[in-house]
Amino acid sequence: VNGLGYTGPARALEEYAASGQPGPQLYRWRTECRLCSGPLDRLLRLADTPPANELVDAEFVASGKKQDTFPLVLARCSSCGHVQLQTVVDPARMFSEYFYQSGTSPVFRGHLRALAESVFPKHASDLVVEVGSNDGTLLSYYADEYKVVGVDPARNLAEAATARNLLTYADFFTRRTAQMVRDVHGAAALVLALNVFAHADDLHEIVEGVKLLLADDGRFVVEVAYLPDMLRDGTFDMVYAEHTSFHHLSPLVEFFGRHGLSLYDAHHVDSQGGSIRCFVDRGTAPTDRLRRMLADELTVADQIAEFLAQIEAAKVELTELLAKLKAEGRTIAAFGAPAKSTTLLHHFGIGRETIDWIVEENPLKQGKFTPGTNIPIVGTDALTSRRPDYVLCLAWNFSKDIVRRYEHLGLAWIVPLPRLQVIG
Ligand SMILES: [Zn+2]
Repeated sequence: VNGLGYTGPARALEEYAASGQPGPQLYRWRTECRLCSGPLDRLLRLADTPPANELVDAEFVASGKKQDTFPLVLARCSSCGHVQLQTVVDPARMFSEYFYQSGTSPVFRGHLRALAESVFPKHASDLVVEVGSNDGTLLSYYADEYKVVGVDPARNLAEAATARNLLTYADFFTRRTAQMVRDVHGAAALVLALNVFAHADDLHEIVEGVKLLLADDGRFVVEVAYLPDMLRDGTFDMVYAEHTSFHHLSPLVEFFGRHGLSLYDAHHVDSQGGSIRCFVDRGTAPTDRLRRMLADELTVADQIAEFLAQIEAAKVELTELLAKLKAEGRTIAAFGAPAKSTTLLHHFGIGRETIDWIVEENPLKQGKFTPGTNIPIVGTDALTSRRPDYVLCLAWNFSKDIVRRYEHLGLAWIVPLPRLQVIG
C-alpha cells in the first residue's frame, strides 16, 4: 500500500483496499483540450492543495502525516477557447462517496423544482434520465408523471435514492451505462445533467452515451456554472480538483456540433454563482437568444486578463487585513468549510496561525479538520461560547443569509469575495 505513495486518510485507503480496485493514482496531467483536443495555454497556477473535500480526523492530524497535494493549473484552449483545469485527479477518490446532497439546501431544492416545472418530456409515458442524479431530488419532481432513472457514481446516494423508489444505478455515466439503461428502460425523451459538465474529465464519453440513449425527438438539458460570471466576480476559489471545466457557450456549441448534436438554445440561471441552462437535440436550429449570448461572449479574453489581476489584489488586501488584526491581538474564527475554502486558504497562505477554528452547520464536517491546513471544525455554538473578535466568512456566497441569521450575536464579519467587506 505504501508503494502507491498514498498518504491520505486511512478511511479512504481502506475503502480502496476493500473495493479490490488498484490504488489511486494521485493525478495526471492534461495537455489537450477536453472539448476539441487543441493545445492548452496556461492562465494561472494556484497553490498546491489536497482534494478540496477531503477532511481529515484528529488521529490523522496527530500522526503528523501530510495529505497528498497536487497543483491546480487553469488553462485555456488556444483553439476553441474552453477554460479548464489541467490537473486530473482520480475521480473514484473524489466521487465514490459524496457528502453534498442536493436535497439538503432549501434554495437548491426550489431551483430543481422550478426546473422540473418548466422542462419536461412531450408524453406522459416518457422516460426521464438524470446523469449525476445525486440524491434523486430532481428526479423526485418528475416521478409522479414519468418513468425516471438516475445514474450516479456515489454509492451512498444511489442506494438512498433507490430506496425512495427513484431507481438509480451507482456508476459513472458512459456509453456502456447508457446502452444498459436503453436496453432495460427504452429510449429517453429527456436527459438531464446538472453541474456534471463541470465535474467530468471525459465529456466525449458522456455525450456519446447521451446520443445512444436519447429518443430521436428527445432533448438533453445541461446546466453548468458560467465562466463569465466567475470572471466577473473574481471567484477563483471555484477552481479545485473536482471542477475540471469552466464553461461558456461558444466552445460548447462547437463541441456538440462535432458530436452530431445541436446546442440550439440557452439561458442564464441563478444557481452555483451563475449558471447557463443549455438545450441540446439532434438538429434544431439556433435561437436568437443563443446568438445574442454568443455575441456577448466576445469579451471573455479581456475578462480573463482582469480576473487574473483581481486575484492578486484580493490576496494582498485580505492577508494584510488579517495580519493587522492578529498584530492587534484579535481572535479570528471562520465560518464554513466548503470545497472552495480549501483553494482560498491555500492560495492566500492562510492557516492555523491566523484562523483558530471554523464553524460548520453540516454535522458531518464537525469534529474534523480542514484538508492540508488542519484547522479544527466545530459546531456553530462556538460563536456564542467562544466569541471570536472577527469571523471570516469562507462560505461567502451565502454571506448575506449567514450574517443575517447570526446578527443577534453582534459579531464582526469579514467577507473575502467578490469584494473584501468588513461588516459590524
Ligand atoms: Zn478546445
